[in-house]
This record gives sequence, C-alpha cells and structure tokens, in this order.
Amino acid sequence: MISIRDLRVAYGPRVVAHVPALDVGAGECVAIVGESGSGKSTTLLAALGLTEGATVSGEVSVCGVDVLRARPRALRAIRGSKAALVIQSPQAALSPTTRLGVLMRRALKLHGVTGPGGIERLMAQACEAVMLDPMILRRYPHEISGGQAQRFAIALAIALGAEVILADEPTSALDVTVQAEVVGVLRRLREERGLALLIVSHDLALVSTIADRVLVMKDGQVVEAGPAEQVFTRPGHPYTRELLEALP
Ligand code: ADP
Ligand code: MG
Repeated sequence: MISIRDLRVAYGPRVVAHVPALDVGAGECVAIVGESGSGKSTTLLAALGLTEGATVSGEVSVCGVDVLRARPRALRAIRGSKAALVIQSPQAALSPTTRLGVLMRRALKLHGVTGPGGIERLMAQACEAVMLDPMILRRYPHEISGGQAQRFAIALAIALGAEVILADEPTSALDVTVQAEVVGVLRRLREERGLALLIVSHDLALVSTIADRVLVMKDGQVVEAGPAEQVFTRPGHPYTRELLEALP
C-alpha cells in the first residue's frame, strides 16, 4: 500500500529526511521513531505529497499512485479517501460550530460516498468501528474528549474508505489510558479490515505494542530498520539503545 525508495526531502540545501526503503502492506503496521527534529513528520508528509516548499526526490507509491509525479488532482483524490492522515490534535482542525455528524456527512458527500445502506448507516457503522456511540455525532467538537476526537478522526477516515492510515503522533496529546484505547482501535482495524498503518511516534513503549517493523531516525537519516521484535530486543545502533534506555 505504501512503498518508498530512496526518498530525500530537502529544505534549501539541507536534507531533513532520507529514507532508503520503507514498505507497508495491507494489514501491516510500520512505525517511525526518533527524537524531535529527526525527520519523522517530514517523511510522513512527503508520502502524501504534502511537503510544500521542499525539494523531494526518490520513489513514493501510495495506493498505486506515484505521489512525486502525480497531478494535484490525483493526489487530492487519494488523500481524501484511500489514504488518511491522522494528526496529533484533530480537535483544533474541526470547525467549532459544526456538529460532528454534519461534518462527517459533508465530507462523505464531498467525496461522493453513500455506502450500501445509506449515509446515516455508514456513519453509525464507522463510529462503532472505533468504539464510539453514534450519538456522539450530535455533539460539537468542544463537547468531546481528546481520545474521542482522535477516534472520530479515524472513524471519518474509515467512512471515507481509507485503506491506509498515516498517523503523526496520534496519541501524544492523550492520557496514558486513553492512548491505549486509541491504539487498541487502530490494532483492531488493521486486523479486521486489513488497514495499512504508518505511525510516527517518539513513544517507543507505545510503538512496541502495535508495530510489525520499526525505522529509527536520527538527524534525518534512518539509523536502524527491522522487525519490531528485533529492534526492541537486540538494537544494532547505539542511538536505538539510548532511546530504549530512556524508557521508564
Ligand atoms: P520530527 O517530526 O521528527 O520531529 P520534522 O520532520 O518535523 O521532525 O523536522 C525535521 C527537520 O526538518 C527539522 O530540523 C525541522 O526544523 C525541518 N523542517 C521541517 N519542516 C520544515 C519546513 N517547512 N521548512 C524548513 N525546515 C523544515
Ligand atoms: Mg513531528
């Protein structure tokens, strides 16, 4: 679903992210970890063609679209439907005066999604898939918690037919118990719906509970990559060991 080869993203003369290879198949979860400023978000945004002002080279394919060469229109089409970006604090991006149901209905109509049983049914099912009571659709963004907002963002992606979710620090703004809830939802969706997940996080403890493979980034470079079990139990790079030792 996602395939990246020799991706380089530069702002001016400075290469801020270089990723030799990254693949995420259906039902797989790959995580990018590393300290702040290591190039994680840049890599994620480049995968969706969203690094404005940057010089980008290499090969990026998402849901069969050649991201670095596709026309803006083709890119907008996959971004809105097949590939969804989930950000740290989605609440801020929601219009405060619009009920969640209105917002979701509008997004579905915009993309021409109706669902076999009708739009209302599709919306309720998407809520249930992320363990939200569909009654939440009557609420305004400020009336829900951070964890609910994050699950709503995922529900919206699912309703729109997302096959790939790219999540940038999806749980960093949440309490520990709520983090587990959101990760639980993502894990279920990848198992039940074969969703492909690319997650960026500085939280190794959380990543270890969901990722199949891990890329460790430092100063824009991938210093280590491999199966999560291997990276976490037998880290090959001193920087990975440092990250692991910093865990509580
Ligand atoms: P991370 O997500 O790992 O914290 P980022 O990918 O956001 O790191 O940033 C990597 C580096 O790229 C940082 O040094 C940041 O300052 C730089 N950077 C990110 N976006 C821009 C931009 N739009 N213009 C210039 N530099 C940027
Ligand atoms: Mg970031």
